[in-house]
Amino acid sequence: MAAFPPFQTIRHQAPEQPVIAIVIPCYNEEAALPYTAEKVSGLIDGLVADGLISPDSYMLCVNDGSRDNTWNVITRLHEANPRGVKGISLAHNRGHQNALLAGLMTAMDHCDAAISIDADLQDDPQAIRLMVERFREGCEIVYGVRSSRATDTAFKRITAHAFYSFQNKMGLETIYDHADYRLMSDRALHLLSQYGESNLFLRGIIPQIGLRTDIVTYERHSRVAGESKYPLAKMLSFSIDGITSFSARPMRWIFITGLILLIVDLFVAAYVIGSLFFREPVSGWVSIMLSVWFLGSLILMSIGIVGEYIGKIFIEVKHRPRFAIAETLLD
Ligand code: UDP
Ligand code: MG
Repeated sequence: MAAFPPFQTIRHQAPEQPVIAIVIPCYNEEAALPYTAEKVSGLIDGLVADGLISPDSYMLCVNDGSRDNTWNVITRLHEANPRGVKGISLAHNRGHQNALLAGLMTAMDHCDAAISIDADLQDDPQAIRLMVERFREGCEIVYGVRSSRATDTAFKRITAHAFYSFQNKMGLETIYDHADYRLMSDRALHLLSQYGESNLFLRGIIPQIGLRTDIVTYERHSRVAGESKYPLAKMLSFSIDGITSFSARPMRWIFITGLILLIVDLFVAAYVIGSLFFREPVSGWVSIMLSVWFLGSLILMSIGIVGEYIGKIFIEVKHRPRFAIAETLLD
């Protein structure tokens, strides 16, 4: 009988000088990109000079169907520095998460680790160095977590905090105050590539991958140029998507609410039937109006929540591609 091969500990060993890909999703970022590219290139050069990363490291700009000159800017940057700046252009605007995924999946086979960062440099690029250090120590996913929200408006701060705590109450595992600024090893990227869902919420998926992780903190600044593409309405829909993609808890809550109402209803019925015997005068317009409105809104909300999930199923079963790459600048 053949013996089992000896156990191998599957441990991640980062190369001495890993090839790092810095993936930047860009939607209408012509104003911010030249500055961002200069900053990030400088940072890569510094890390190469210190012997921390390979000179083959590069930044990969993903043009997410921009309507302005973003792709021309990327092309110019690539022509000036073909090794350091690469680009892909999506055929259509697919949103931040899909653009990021397109970049990560493109970089996956051409790097030892990829770091995603927004084009507006709100996330301090200095944290890239800390992430690389953690990666070299053996961490495979390193989350960038902002240390304070001092530069955000009070409104953004409050809504963002509500967003995190609501999600976690709903049973979604996310890292507090972490956006999509993170490092992932090539192995983590390959694991990510196995998640086939169309409703992409990377912040919920990546903690589920597991592997050895760590956190680095940084200060978040205001945008270097251009304006936010995440107004309140988009943030709200992002939050609902996050919850309904990862947790069925809202449906359970509807059920429990229904159950509680049923119990309350038993008392109401007892009262109504009892009042028949005592011939209480019926005035009750207020109570009828209140309950009709209350129950009406509860029913509508419940149907809405169920509809959210059915909508998700509808999208997922079609299994459509999440992005299409129209042009590349990779060599
Ligand atoms: N972005 C994208 N596609 C979109 C919207 C945004 O690729 O449809 C990119 C955008 O260029 C930026 C990042 O996603 O690099 C985050 O967007 P933004 O800074 O507008 O969001 P905020 O920081 O205000 O939440
Ligand atoms: Mg931003």
